[in-house]
Amino acid sequence: MTIRCLICNSSVVLSKDAAKSIARLIGALDGFLNGIQRSASKSPTTASAHNEKPLERAFRLMIDGVAGASSSWATTQDFIRDVRKYQFMEYDCLCLRCGATFDTPTEEDEQP
Ligand SMILES: [Zn+2]
Repeated sequence: MTIRCLICNSSVVLSKDAAKSIARLIGALDGFLNGIQRSASKSPTTASAHNEKPLERAFRLMIDGVAGASSSWATTQDFIRDVRKYQFMEYDCLCLRCGATFDTPTEEDEQP
């Protein structure tokens, strides 16, 4: 069922759950990229690091990126909490066209 805005009738409506998932994805990507940046900025100090093959380097960067995503979980939770608090308040839906917030319409709301 497509949710339509109660004010402008737009179908471009973001649910609170979808916003939470998007915020979680953004937080994970941010942590992943920060982990890769930290890993890439480290200067190789051991002899084995100098002989690292491209595939080995890519694997090491991936592992450090996943570790970065995992360690940024608390920050991501704060970000999700802020999105819910400041964008949705107590409502379930946010219209991306006009900015109206409202609860998900029930079947009783649609009855004449
Ligand atoms: Zn609207």
